[in-house]
Formats: sequence, structure tokens, C-alpha cells
Amino acid sequence: MNNTREVEVVVIGAGQAGLSSAYHLRRTGFEPERDFVVLDHSPAPGGAWQFRWPSLTYGKVHGMHALPGMELTDADPTRPSAEVVAEYFAAYERAFDLRVRRPVDVRAVREGAGGRLLVETSDGTWSTRALINATGTWDRPFWPRYRGQETFRGRQLHTAQYRGPEEFAGLRVIVVGGGASGTQHLLEIAPYAATTTWVTRRLPVFREGPFNEDLGRAAVALVEERVRQGLPPKSVVSVTGLPLNDAIRQGIDDGVLDRQPMFDGITPEGVEWNDGRRLAADVILWATGFRAAIDHLAPLRLREAGGGIRVEGTRAVADPRIHLVGYGPSASTIGANRAGRAAVRDIRRLLAETPTQPTEPAQPTEPADSIEPAESVRSVGSAAA
Ligand SMILES: Cc1cc2nc3c(=O)[nH]c(=O)nc-3n(C[C@H](O)[C@H](O)[C@H](O)COP(=O)(O)OP(=O)(O)OC[C@H]3O[C@@H](n4cnc5c(N)ncnc54)[C@H](O)[C@@H]3O)c2cc1C
Repeated sequence: MNNTREVEVVVIGAGQAGLSSAYHLRRTGFEPERDFVVLDHSPAPGGAWQFRWPSLTYGKVHGMHALPGMELTDADPTRPSAEVVAEYFAAYERAFDLRVRRPVDVRAVREGAGGRLLVETSDGTWSTRALINATGTWDRPFWPRYRGQETFRGRQLHTAQYRGPEEFAGLRVIVVGGGASGTQHLLEIAPYAATTTWVTRRLPVFREGPFNEDLGRAAVALVEERVRQGLPPKSVVSVTGLPLNDAIRQGIDDGVLDRQPMFDGITPEGVEWNDGRRLAADVILWATGFRAAIDHLAPLRLREAGGGIRVEGTRAVADPRIHLVGYGPSASTIGANRAGRAAVRDIRRLLAETPTQPTEPAQPTEPADSIEPAESVRSVGSAAA
């Protein structure tokens, strides 16, 4: 029995990138369930935000851009961003009737018959003419490997497992990594821990002054150039530097953000440098970032020799049916918004140009200028009070 379901577009992931894409699909006449589906393996709305540590309050995030068509206003800055964003995304999905299917884990995407793609999931198979991959990075924490790492008797954890500073009370903690997460962990943990040590591979670059549009554009252009060449994308901080805000300044003055060079090896008791220096530790916290969660695309062989997928705009150069939204230059809330719109525009063109298959579902109608939320939820900030 063949119970493969056919749609025009499958969106994988219901974070900022997937929801923005779904919004633009709806807005241009694609019907959820009939023309497109959104599949997400997380248990609830919120994308990766639902898993962020409780002490990452809404006031501490760098600037969360609202999704298209519905503002996020009056959010309480002292509440965990995990809660604020999850509520906002849930309201958004309802308002635009996006009908996200969850938990549905996409395991593999393969070439199907008649120019279609087969999306194999924990809940059966979808056959689709185009794919928007919006799976983010949270599911692929990056752990570097160091000599002796397996011998360490203390605890090792990654940012993805960090739940707040209290559990480090009285412990000697080493934080690895020069990004925003690493510095935030240090500032939070220092008042609780017996000692903290910050190690990074490269000298951290602090950025004076506000993050303006020019800086943003320059950062995006740098990452864009990498993905155009088929190299793995870099994190935004690696190109923008760390903002020198009051908390960071205080951390530098207090000696909490006194960066040490990366250690060369790990021992049962701690870490060591090749010059003979050793440091005892109870915890190594790897704030070493994330990689794109795209293993399910492996059967399509999109990766270049450089290790990344070559992308032009949001389209995979090797396969115009596939768009990567929230990948590389669009891996920010504002970037994901724009990329969702661009991907949908491109896909509409592709579907119009490509002959349809015999078992084709109903054609999407002409684009409407805008869609109104299905219910009168304009923001969720006050709902939380
Ligand atoms: C700690 C931290 C703080 C950040 N702060 C900011 C900030 O302040 N401002 C900003 O602009 N950006 C910030 N970012 C970057 C931010 O994550 C992105 O901007 C944006 O939220 C990512 O959205 P996304 O939709 O691409 O990914 P996600 O939110 O990760 O959503 C991806 C979704 O795909 C699903 N998924 C993954 N794999 C599969 C699969 N195989 N099958 C089915 N579903 C799958 C996941 O369940 C998830 O729901 C931060 C990142 C981190 C790690």
C-alpha cells in the first residue's frame, strides 16, 4: 500500500525560518495541508528557543525580530526568552492557521520519481515538488576534540545542556569559547563558582559602539560569500565581534573575562598547555557553537568538497528545488524573515516553470497582498503578565 502524501512544498522546521516561510506560502495562496506542510520534531511551538536556559531572559537576547505579520510587543524582559518566544510562536501558528505537524522527525530526503523529492519522517513519507529546509543549528552542538578528553573525571557539558549557574556553586569551571554564549555563561557562573577560567582559540574581538545596519550588512556579506563558495557558514559573532556592553565591560574589569589561550590537552584532573602549565577543574563547559542540522539531506549529496552546501540567495546551487532558510547569512531572526520570503518567491517561480505531475494537487491561487491573522492575536507580551 502506498500511503505517501503529495504536496507542493514541505517545510522542515518551525522556528523563525520555517514559520516565516510558511507565512509567505500562505500569503501567496498555498493552503496548509493541501499544498504545503510544516514538519517539526520538537514537542511544542518555539523552535529552538523553547530549549534555551531559563536565565536567558527576554531582556538579554540581542534583538529578536518579530515574525512577519504579527508584532511581539510588551514582552516582559525579565521572563525567560524560552517562554516568551514559545507563547508568541504558538499564537502566531494559530493566528495564521499554519497547522504545524509535530512531533515529526525528518530522517531523510531522497530523490523521488517524476522530479519529486521524498521526505521520509517518523510519521510516514511526503512527496514534494520543493523543499524549504529550516532546521537551524540547535540540534547539532559542536564539540571540539582535545587530547585526553575522555579521561577527564569532572563534568563536560555543552551550551545546549546549560540550565543556569546554580549547579556550578563551589566548583572550578572552565568555559571554552569566544562567542556570546561563552561570555554570558561566565558572567552568570562567576558569582556562584569557586573559580572560573575563560579559554578561547582566537583573541576575542570586542566591538565598540552600536551594531548598526552597515555592520550587519558587512557581516552578512562575509557569511554569504562563504556559502556561495560551498564552505560551511561561520557564526555571526565570528564576523561581528562581541558587543562591548556594560555587562561585558564589568566582566573585563572584574577579571571574569580575562581570556586565556586555548589549552592543548585534557587530563583526569583538568587541562594542560604544551608549555607545561596545568589547571585543575571540576567542569568544562563547551560554549563552542553549533553546526547546521542538515544530516537528513545527505542522500541528496549537496555538500561541496569544502564541507558546506553552495547556496545562492536561499537556493541550493546543485538543486533548485531545495532552499535553505536560516542557513549561513540568514541565521538570524531578521535574516530568517527575509529568507523565508525570498525562498517562497523563488519556489513559486520554479513551480510555475516546471511541468506539473499527473497526480498534482490543487494549484495555489494568486498572491494576496496580505493575510490577516485568523484570530485577533496581535501580540502575546501582555498574555504572559
Ligand atoms: C543562545 C542563542 C541565542 C540567540 N539569540 C539571538 C538573538 O538574540 N537574535 C537573533 O536574531 N538570533 C539569535 N540567535 C540565533 C537564532 O537561533 C536564530 O536567529 C533563529 O532563532 C533561528 O531560527 P531557525 O528557525 O533557523 O532555527 P530554530 O529555532 O533552531 O528552529 C529549527 C526547528 O527545526 C526543527 N528541526 C530540526 N531538525 C529537524 C528534523 N530533522 N526534523 C524535523 N524538525 C527538525 C527543530 O525542532 C526546530 O524547531 C541565537 C542563537 C542562540 C544559540
